[in-house]
Amino acid sequence: MTKTRHLTILGSTGSIGESTLDVVARHPGLYQVVALTADRNVEKMFEQCIQFHPPYAVMLDAQSAEQLEDRLHAAGLDTRVLSGIESLEKVASLPEIDTVMAAIVGAAGIRPTLAAARTGKHILLANKETLVMAGRVFMDTLRQHHATLLPIDSEHNAIFQSLPQHFNGDLAGSGVRRILLTASGGPFRTVDLKMLETVTPEQACAHPNWVMGRKISVDSATMMNKGLEVIEAHWLFNAEPEKIQVVIHPQSVIHSMVEYIDGSVLAQLGNPDMRTPIAHALSYPERMESGVQSLDMFKVARLDFESPDFKRFPCLRLAYEALAAGGNMPAVLNAANEVAVEVFLAGRIPFTAIPVMIEDVMKSTERRDVPDLEGVLLADLQARATAREWLACNIRQSTGQPGKPASSLSAGQ
Ligand code: NDP
Repeated sequence: MTKTRHLTILGSTGSIGESTLDVVARHPGLYQVVALTADRNVEKMFEQCIQFHPPYAVMLDAQSAEQLEDRLHAAGLDTRVLSGIESLEKVASLPEIDTVMAAIVGAAGIRPTLAAARTGKHILLANKETLVMAGRVFMDTLRQHHATLLPIDSEHNAIFQSLPQHFNGDLAGSGVRRILLTASGGPFRTVDLKMLETVTPEQACAHPNWVMGRKISVDSATMMNKGLEVIEAHWLFNAEPEKIQVVIHPQSVIHSMVEYIDGSVLAQLGNPDMRTPIAHALSYPERMESGVQSLDMFKVARLDFESPDFKRFPCLRLAYEALAAGGNMPAVLNAANEVAVEVFLAGRIPFTAIPVMIEDVMKSTERRDVPDLEGVLLADLQARATAREWLACNIRQSTGQPGKPASSLSAGQ
């Protein structure tokens, strides 16, 4: 790769953002970091600015932006510090950048990612919520503005690598029978179902194979993460839900597979380290060093596979239902899940209440078509309001303890 790529990294202080900068730092001269963004983590953003000297740094939070500006000024750096959602959109669409790593967590990532699509950027997509909430709007925008997309999620990146090189969105025409989307099953794959009622945020965030941000770690524990990935795969690869089979593979060595009509199954394997898909996407169609260790097959020794259990993982069922319903439902699922995970991490609801809350919010929302971004954002807002009403009804505000109806807060409902 000879041409220097000019990068904006949305969510640079997060787990994916840091891994991206780690890969970039291994290839000085190939990438120029033009803009970094975060929400409030001034300390980490300051360190990143000192190391990468970006012309722009954006903190969503205005007070954090002021603190960062003071510190950078004192350190003699002339990075321009901005704040607010419009500034995130601005740095995702700067004329001087060609590539955007979209790694903000949650629905907050959607507007800047769409801004990158509208300006024809090469988008490396980690933020799964953009596709989950606004799949049709986002894919249409990409096509209209000749933007390009490479998936960063390790599973979708593995599927992309296992599909024919010039895959044009026609699975059947490419001889593909189905997609096998692997899942580790998270930390609670084998624990007693009763025990799920008492798991703590720390236990839920202790993923057996991957080191990730807290939100996605909880999503892995409920397998909502896999559900969101089924929806992502639908949009990325134009795959109907019945063509996407989730396969539990506890070792997380096979990152996903594609089965062809002749019976061949192609897989991508590697150590569970996000620097592999990040380096793949950054250097595509070439390959480059990522810092990831060789896969030691003798140490791995065996690969196991199980089918997913919807009783243990009701969030996976809910995601398939949202995808089948379409319209506003994936956005409703996503918003209710974000609220549920947030209050679980704050210790306000038990782990087993997460799917209960999401299902109740979905049931009390009418299905509607969402033809544009405004419709998607409205569906998101309304679902959050419904989720907060659910909380008010189900949590004793004074004690923060789960209250009535206690029966609906248990596992496997
Ligand atoms: P983290 O929580 O580690 O990092 C999130 C980043 O987004 C941080 O830079 C954070 O800033 C910033 N951020 C948080 N809230 C906002 C907001 N409201 N507006 C703007 N910026 C915000 O997340 P991950 O890196 O784990 O995940 C990022 C995305 O990638 C998610 O969508 C996730 O599902 C997806 N993904 C992650 C994988 C992983 O291995 N981690 C694997 C595959 C996909 P601050 O530090 O200031 O809070």
